[in-house]
Amino acid sequence: KTPTPLHYTDKQTAEELIKPRQKFSHKGTYGHALLIAGSFGKMGAAVLSGKACLRSGIGLLTMHSPGCGYDILQISIPEAMAVMDNNHKTISQLPELDAYSAIGIGPGIGQDEATVKVMEQLLETIKVPLIIDADGLNILSQNRSLLDKLPENTILTPHPKEFQRLAGESKNEYERLELGKDFARKYRVIICLKGANTAVILPNGDIHFNSTGNAGMATGGTGDVLTGIITSLLAQKYSPEHAAILGVYEHGLAGDRAAEQKGQSALIASDVVDCLGW
Ligand code: AMP
Ligand code: MG
Repeated sequence: KTPTPLHYTDKQTAEELIKPRQKFSHKGTYGHALLIAGSFGKMGAAVLSGKACLRSGIGLLTMHSPGCGYDILQISIPEAMAVMDNNHKTISQLPELDAYSAIGIGPGIGQDEATVKVMEQLLETIKVPLIIDADGLNILSQNRSLLDKLPENTILTPHPKEFQRLAGESKNEYERLELGKDFARKYRVIICLKGANTAVILPNGDIHFNSTGNAGMATGGTGDVLTGIITSLLAQKYSPEHAAILGVYEHGLAGDRAAEQKGQSALIASDVVDCLGW
């Protein structure tokens, strides 16, 4: 094997990737994102990812969630449009996709049979950049024929347990990275291996380690925030590679600001959303 080029995303690297807001622009300039998220009892994941998407520069955001989420979304995220699924508790329908410049799926969706079908239809029809997280990843692990349908450069954001389900057991961190590289090469996807110093693994095997973030972020919902950020960047036409690297950096930076304000133990995912901004 040839040695892997390793990179480190510091402040300067990240700032060089940021596309500044343009004076003569309008909301159409900054893309229209679709987030497919939430189920009965897990609407919080949808709310967190939606808010994070809006706080990351998106022009327009539409949420697709089960019927039970209607009031929740409209009240907690007035800036987003809500398209409700026919099913009250889980996602069972693929919405019309034509309007969107990027799609994020997974936070809080569960693994209902109907939701698995939606995932399959999505992979077969999608023509814009895609990020898959959380139960979206678990659906892939449980229905492995779907892995071959992943569009090139799809971004996957597993935490260690989700990664183990996707790619198998590893004895240590080194082995996990090797598994990640094999997986990224085989399926031509980008993997954000989440944890301290999240590793963004590209299809060519390059690895970008992140410099921001802290142990206060080891709390429910922070991953959903990352999904919203990266969906937003994809919809704004950042390349998948840059959306992953920059999104992971900005997520950690917001987490570091939140920890400064609250302390690590008191930090909750909503604080990370509140501290976003660049
Ligand atoms: P999830 O498990 O999907 O909610 O994702 C957790 C998020 O928090 C990921 O973005 C992780 O990188 C981040 N995170 C969790 N634990 C730590 C840690 N000890 N240090 C830095 N970031 C962390
Ligand atoms: Mg998660």
